[in-house]
Amino acid sequence: MHEKCGVVGISLEDRDAARPLYYSLYALQHRGQESAGIVTHDGFQQHSHVEMGLVGDAFEPGDLEQLNGPNGIGHVRYPTAGSVNACCAQPFSVSFKSGSLGLSHNGNLVNAGEIREQLADLGHAFTSDGDTEVIAHDLARNLLEEDLVRAVKRTMSRIHGSYSLTIMHDDTVLGVRDPQGNRPLCIGKLEDGYVLASESAAIDTLDGELVRDVRPGELVVLHPDGTGYDTYQLVQAETTAHCFFEHVYFARPDSVIDDELVYEVRRELGRELWEESGIESDVVMPVPDSGRAFASGYAEAANEDGSGVEFAEGLMKNRYVGRTFIMPTQDERERAVRLKLNPIKSSVEGRSVTIIDDSIVRGTTSNQLVQLLRDAGAEEVHVRIGAPQIIAPCYMGIDMASREELIAADKSVEEIRAEIEADSLSYLSIDAVSSALGNSRADLCLGCVTGEYPYDIDGETTDRDVERPVISGVGAEADD
Ligand code: AMP
Repeated sequence: MHEKCGVVGISLEDRDAARPLYYSLYALQHRGQESAGIVTHDGFQQHSHVEMGLVGDAFEPGDLEQLNGPNGIGHVRYPTAGSVNACCAQPFSVSFKSGSLGLSHNGNLVNAGEIREQLADLGHAFTSDGDTEVIAHDLARNLLEEDLVRAVKRTMSRIHGSYSLTIMHDDTVLGVRDPQGNRPLCIGKLEDGYVLASESAAIDTLDGELVRDVRPGELVVLHPDGTGYDTYQLVQAETTAHCFFEHVYFARPDSVIDDELVYEVRRELGRELWEESGIESDVVMPVPDSGRAFASGYAEAANEDGSGVEFAEGLMKNRYVGRTFIMPTQDERERAVRLKLNPIKSSVEGRSVTIIDDSIVRGTTSNQLVQLLRDAGAEEVHVRIGAPQIIAPCYMGIDMASREELIAADKSVEEIRAEIEADSLSYLSIDAVSSALGNSRADLCLGCVTGEYPYDIDGETTDRDVERPVISGVGAEADD
């Protein structure tokens, strides 16, 4: 189950958390459009509302009023092909002997099946096939024997893979980030409380201030009275495995991840793209919206080098068409690109055009765009991509298509150029990505562009040069 989602958790001093949770889910809507949900706790009991659909459709006006209590968590879920499935909508909630649990999960475990089997042998019954329920049952079991912090630590020593979690145990909200920090999670301060969120844009929406990222392997426990939080470094891995694609495509440009504004990182990647493979043309235009920051950095660097290239918004987007990516058939995907993007003829006619996008996955968008621009009279069409070739699937939470569907899985850049019928095509190098992100290659998850993963995945290779992380077991020296 590939879960690319948005999570949030809030503890407030003296008002219901439902409305701020609702607004933060709106801010995280780009991280998941399949379902939305909120679970709150009023000090006595849990209240839950989870529905399929966009945040605006999932909650009726009266729903928020039912979600009482100053503590709560929320979730938006990403649609993955073929799994439009109400059973996997979150937050996942259960009540058990020692209290209630709610869980919101962003990421993907690589050993959920194994733990599920062990727990099933011990008598646990599962209602979904998602990994979040596995985490919930494991934690519930540990909570029967240990305090909250030790129980979380024990669960972290058992689960492997990527996870940024917001959890509610009775009225206590917690945030946990996996030891390699694959998915983002940050802490924010509000006027009357604290918030944990996948991205800082959610904190901005609540007029709060970003405190910092949750560290890889760290547990953050918000005080239920909204006055503060405690943190515990439960697991210390030797290397991180931050997903570079969060910076390239997934996160909002106005979010800050690893102390860097995503917009500026994308502009820097655009500048690097010019340095590595800039080509003279009359006009540079972004593929909206994903290519915008890259194109502005690219054009700026080009002009600093005296190119004189014009930067133009030459492709207009129909914002009411859904994402082409999730259309079930190739024919529909092709039609959808045409519905979605239309060139401004005067920017294109008789000119050489460079279009810039963040990534090529199946190649549908670039293929259609090159054709579209030629039909609109472009003399030359050059394509520049702000990420390396995506050659392998993502197992860590981004729904990226299967290997067979990835255009770069078995084709050279020249073969791809020929297939999309561009005059030239260049991708950004992996080194340029790691230098723009300020991380060494060993600290990034680059599985989809190298085919080598920082996790053990059946049938796949692990990173050659990267030490496997040491997961410290329960009972090991910890700073809890
Ligand atoms: P494709 O048309 O299949 O080559 O997909 C490339 C386009 O999809 C680019 O414009 C990207 O911005 C966008 N894209 C890249 N990754 C994803 C993803 N995981 N989900 C949805 N869209 C994506």
